[in-house]
This record gives sequence, structure tokens and C-alpha cells, in this order.
Amino acid sequence: MVGAGVGTAIAIGRAFTYRSETYVSWDLEGAGSNRGLLAIREALNEVDLELAKVDSNSETIDIIEAMRLVLNDPALLLSIKEFLADGANSQRAVSGAFKQAAATLTNLGEYFAERANDVLELGNKVINKLSGRKDIVWPEEPFILVADNVGPIEMNNLAKSQIVGLVTSSGSATSHTAILARASGLPAVVSVLGSDLITNGNQLILDSSSGQVFVEPDEVELGQYRQAMEVNLQTKSLRIVKQHDLPVQLYANLGSSSEAQTAREFGAQGVGLFRTELLFLGEKTAPSLEQQVLEYSRVLAEFPDQVVIVRVLDLDTDKPLPFLKLAEKGKYANRGFQALLANPVVLEAQLMALSMAQRISPKTKLWVMAPMVTTAEQARVFVAMAHELGLVNAGVMIEVPEVCQKDVLNEILEVVDFVSIGTNDLTQYTLGQDRLTSPLPVSDVRKPEVMGLIELVISSATEHMKPVGICGEAASDPESAQLFIDYGVTSLSVSPALLPGLVEKLT
Ligand code: PEP
Ligand code: MG
Repeated sequence: MVGAGVGTAIAIGRAFTYRSETYVSWDLEGAGSNRGLLAIREALNEVDLELAKVDSNSETIDIIEAMRLVLNDPALLLSIKEFLADGANSQRAVSGAFKQAAATLTNLGEYFAERANDVLELGNKVINKLSGRKDIVWPEEPFILVADNVGPIEMNNLAKSQIVGLVTSSGSATSHTAILARASGLPAVVSVLGSDLITNGNQLILDSSSGQVFVEPDEVELGQYRQAMEVNLQTKSLRIVKQHDLPVQLYANLGSSSEAQTAREFGAQGVGLFRTELLFLGEKTAPSLEQQVLEYSRVLAEFPDQVVIVRVLDLDTDKPLPFLKLAEKGKYANRGFQALLANPVVLEAQLMALSMAQRISPKTKLWVMAPMVTTAEQARVFVAMAHELGLVNAGVMIEVPEVCQKDVLNEILEVVDFVSIGTNDLTQYTLGQDRLTSPLPVSDVRKPEVMGLIELVISSATEHMKPVGICGEAASDPESAQLFIDYGVTSLSVSPALLPGLVEKLT
């Protein structure tokens, strides 16, 4: 699962799920039990007293103070009284008044809208007091919190718990939860689509440097990340990567612009794969040109004079996004480039945004690439579109066995400026296994039927004097990485946190 990474660290642990439908009590049961204004005042007071105890050095103190102002605002009490006068019971009155206060903030726009969630969290607290519901008890051993969102009050309580990482389904890298996590050094991945599939007690690896969350990882992945944690702790300077003398460029894989700075700090020599899906997934409408330019520019600005490879939207679903049309039926039809071909407006807008971002950061070497290309003709179409928009370096991912035939490869390599091998998909499609339902060990890439194709792609690209990179998970597996280097690959692209460990193993 991929989201926006916050921080630089890795966390390994068991999931503790905390979802609003389980714990948040906007359920206004007991609608007949009216405990009246006095009880409400007591509940407001109790919450206020709790907040007053928050340490003044806490990361959340400013928000907590603002929350106390809301609690003591005469307008809030007035609103509660109005709801009571209209016949609401005490919980409904509190709920109504807090929702009204939150709606006012939402209407004020982006920054205030974030505060609206804080106000709703506060309202929950008061309702919990009114209904005698106990606050949540956090596990007594280290855990990774999986939540919809975490408000400042809960964040403050969590500071005293054994939390080692945070996964949320909502929010963005600039949301309050993310800012608080960053400030307290807690590795987090926010806005993770599909995180609702994680259940209590699942083993997780949380890699905040690349925005990835691995659920029930296999021993190889666990070993790789445990080693990365050790290496990254030991090497006080994470610059180890910069000193390597390997005959390849070492790039970073990113899922969001929030990870760009971390990647640079880990010594990445550029970005080998910027997955842009996060901008699109879970949205009702396509992201605006402005949103896209902003996101791409953030990454480009972090890597002046270096290569940043941005991959256009790679859909991986049978259910298209509401703003996308389904492609024709056929093999791989609703994945990657074929899905985009059915939605040329979306593709054009993305390339246009990238071209604008390139103009904002002219020193960065922006390369654009198309995912899941299945024919040489598709490569030609993509490269022509990109070149027309002034994007001078356009390439494709090699991820299906159909394009790993000498004649097809030659045709592709004649038109593209580079290729990048997606070993995750190439492995699953070559071995005929579904990577979602039966995750493959990363070492499967070394099976002769897969490695043979990779070797052919690398040698063909070398003949055509075109850069050829590896950006699938196998690039971070030292044994496979060494083989790729021996075959003549020009770059390896991996999660930033795995870069130091990889260099250590390869040199
Ligand atoms: C791959 O398939 O190896 C790859 C890098 O793409 P993704 O994992 O995003 O499908
Ligand atoms: Mg892929």
C-alpha cells in the first residue's frame, strides 16, 4: 500500500486499528435521556481541565490552547442552549453545536477546514464525557496505529503511549496529523488507500521514506528492513550513499513529494520512480493543473541538476476512478498506459503539468515515463506526446513479457529516450501469479524465466545506447542488484531508507 510518507524512519510492528466507527461516539444513543445543561457544563469543564494539564512544551500546545478557547466560547454554549430549547437531548445539542462550529470553519477554506476536524474531535470528547464512555486505552507494547485520522488531542495522549508508527487513511502530508507526527519524530504514512483492509494485530512494515506500508511482509522484506534500520541507526551520517563508487546511479522511489527531502538526505542521486497515483486515487474529480504543477515542482526543486523520473498515472484496478472511462476489454486493458489512452484528456493534462513544472525548475533533468506499455506503438504515441509538449526525455516501463522480445524491444528502443524495468509486474506477469492475492518473494525475480528477460532488456538498451534502470522492489535486493549491475544497468531505484544498506552490501 502506498501513501504520503512523513519522516525518514522505518517502523516494524503490530497494527492497532482505531477507526471512527468503532470508537467515536457521534452515535447519539439514548436520545431520550436528557441530562440537561448542568451535565453539559460539567462535561465541557472536565474536558477543559484535561486539556489544561497538557505540558506546555507539547508539540500540540498551540492547538490545545485554541481548543480550550472553543470550549470556553460563550457562543458555543449559546448554540447548545438553542439546540436544547429546540427539544434536542444533551448529546444531540452538543453534537449540533460542535458540528455548527466546525461547519463555520470549513466554509472559511483550506487551513480552517483542517481546524474543523479538530473541533469535531473536541465535540467527541465532550460527548464521551456526557455518556460516561471511557477514553481509549492504548496497547502496552509497541504498536503501529492505523486510523482514519488522528486529532491533536489524541496525538497528545499518544505521546505517552508505546506508538512506533502511524498509518492514516485520510489527511495529506501537510495535514495537521502529518505535521504533528513529523514534529514528534514519529514515522507516518498518511492518505493510504486501502488501509481499511489492515486488521488489528497485522504485522506491518511502515517505510515513511517512500510512503509504503507492507502488510504481513515475508521474511525477506522483514530482513531487508531490519537491516536498513540497523544501518541507518549506525551510520550517523546518512551520506554513505554519496560516497559509493558503483557503476550505476542510485535513485529513490517516491510516492509523494513529501518524501523528496528525505530522499535527498539519504543521498539519492535523483528520483528513479515518482509514482503519481496518490494525486488521483480516492478522488472524485481529476486533480487540477495547479495541484499537479505544485506537487511535481516540489520534487523537481529538491533535485536541481539531477534526474527525476516521473511516471504518469498507473491505474491498477478494474474499477476506474469516477472521472476515468474504462478502456476496451483485453489483457492489461485497465492498467497503466492503456487506461490513459482511453482518457487522453487526463494524460495530456498530466504531461502539460509536468512540462510547466519543468519550466519552473529548468535545471532538474525531468524524464517522464509511461507505465505498463504493451506494444511498440504505445511507446511511440507516448514519446511523441511528451516531446510535443517540450518534455525532451520520454521513456517507458518494461513490465510485461510481451514487450521483452528482441524485435519489439528494438522498435521501442528506437523511439524512446530510456527504459525502466518494473520488476514487480514483470515478475508477476512472467510467472503468471497475481501479486496482490499471492505476494511473490522478491527473490522470484532471479528465476531464470524472469532474469532472462531482464538480461535481454538490459543488453538491448545497451546496444541502443539508451539508459536502462530497475525501479521494482528487486533493485533493493543486493543479490539481484548485483546481477543487474553485471548485466549493465545504468540505475537502480529503491526506497530512500534502503539506499544506505544497499550500498553497504554492494561495495
Ligand atoms: C513495478 O512493477 O516493478 C513497478 C515499479 O511499478 P509498481 O510497483 O508501481 O506497479
Ligand atoms: Mg508496475
